[in-house]
Amino acid sequence: MTNIDVTAAHCEGAAPSVCFVTLGCAKNEVDTAEMTKRVISVGMRVVDDPSAADAVVVNTCSFIQAATEESIECIFEICGLENFENGRSKLVVAGCMPARYGSDLEGELAEASAFVPCSKEDDIARVLCEVLGFDAALEAQNCPSPYAASPASYVKISDGCDRFCSFCAIPYIRGAYHSFPYEAVREAVAERVRAGVREVTLIAQDTGRWGEDFDEPDTTAHLLDRLAAEFPDTWFRLMYIEPQGVTDELLDVIASRSNVCSYLDVPLQHASQKILRSMNRRGNSQRHLELVKRMRERVPGITLRTTLIAGFPGETDQDFEELIGFLEEAEFDYAGVFPYSAEEGTRAATLPDQIDEDVKIARAQEVRDLSDAIGEAHVSQRIGHEMDVLVLGREEDGQLYGRAMCQAPEVDGVVYLEEGEIGEIVRVKITDTLVYEMEGEVIHG
Ligand code: SF4
Repeated sequence: MTNIDVTAAHCEGAAPSVCFVTLGCAKNEVDTAEMTKRVISVGMRVVDDPSAADAVVVNTCSFIQAATEESIECIFEICGLENFENGRSKLVVAGCMPARYGSDLEGELAEASAFVPCSKEDDIARVLCEVLGFDAALEAQNCPSPYAASPASYVKISDGCDRFCSFCAIPYIRGAYHSFPYEAVREAVAERVRAGVREVTLIAQDTGRWGEDFDEPDTTAHLLDRLAAEFPDTWFRLMYIEPQGVTDELLDVIASRSNVCSYLDVPLQHASQKILRSMNRRGNSQRHLELVKRMRERVPGITLRTTLIAGFPGETDQDFEELIGFLEEAEFDYAGVFPYSAEEGTRAATLPDQIDEDVKIARAQEVRDLSDAIGEAHVSQRIGHEMDVLVLGREEDGQLYGRAMCQAPEVDGVVYLEEGEIGEIVRVKITDTLVYEMEGEVIHG
């Protein structure tokens, strides 16, 4: 069960208490933070402990079957708490699961008092007022910002996707692609900066399409450039950008703005043209390698991450070897590697030549081992280098840690430090590495 930092924001009083439990990706964390604000604004309290809450909102993930199963497990875990067994507390299921399964889910989960799909999350306060029989406070509540808990935060710049990759359920869960207006993104950034956030990671299903759906089209490059200029003391990082969105204009902004992390996460999924076509995606090994070369030439020192799927239907030994050969040549710093998961309702799930489960897992492991070997070698080359590190917090054992610009939140490891204030950016010399983790000494003066 994952409880995110934003739930640390509390308002004292006798009003009903709500606990948010968030599963899945950073986009869900942002949605939870927004729901938290709405709940606080009507006078409810937000607490960390589900067993002490009048209502628990489980913000579910349903991107793949395994995530759905984890969400269901979490829901049953909560339903087993005493305050739920004796009927004192209410359960609300929000996010991707209600969006994906709709009324089918309502029939299956009688324990829930309400279902709030992603598209209706703005209504969360009203739903909770109804479920708990609470009259919303008329006065705006003066509560701590949910973003004050950490020096790093996410901002969503768009939602939805209509690329319809044949393996992906997201277009059915999140709906059509829609960019958020510049002013809304800017205000979301400003709110976090006011709360003390020093690193903002811009996220979306596909960050490279921002602005193309406006009456007067705009670009992600322009968005990033404006934000970086307006908030010069804040680090900006762009995640999840499809290859089509990696324009020279964008690379030039990354190269020229010192507060934009020289880091891109470009999900390529595969290298074989045959498999990519079957995935309803473009490209091949050659085009992917040209893209990697262009990114490295235009932004010297850029850190690159990708996502790859092994064992897609119809993947022959030859296709798999092409994927391995591509990865050896491209040398990504980091890669997320997944065995193909057949998702109900997607076209790929109905394709012939589905790969045996054991073969998928073995292939994914082989790609992961290769990617780890490449990544580990890259990280070890940072020993002796100096870099800025944002001090983020302490582990349970008291060990201080932070993050360099070459490390994305949650996936690329951290830098362990001996000194520094949380929220401070310190200059660090890397002294040692262990796989993806780094250790460093703060440089004074
Ligand atoms: S671009 Fe990403 S979110 Fe959109 S359909 Fe493809 S994999 Fe899914």
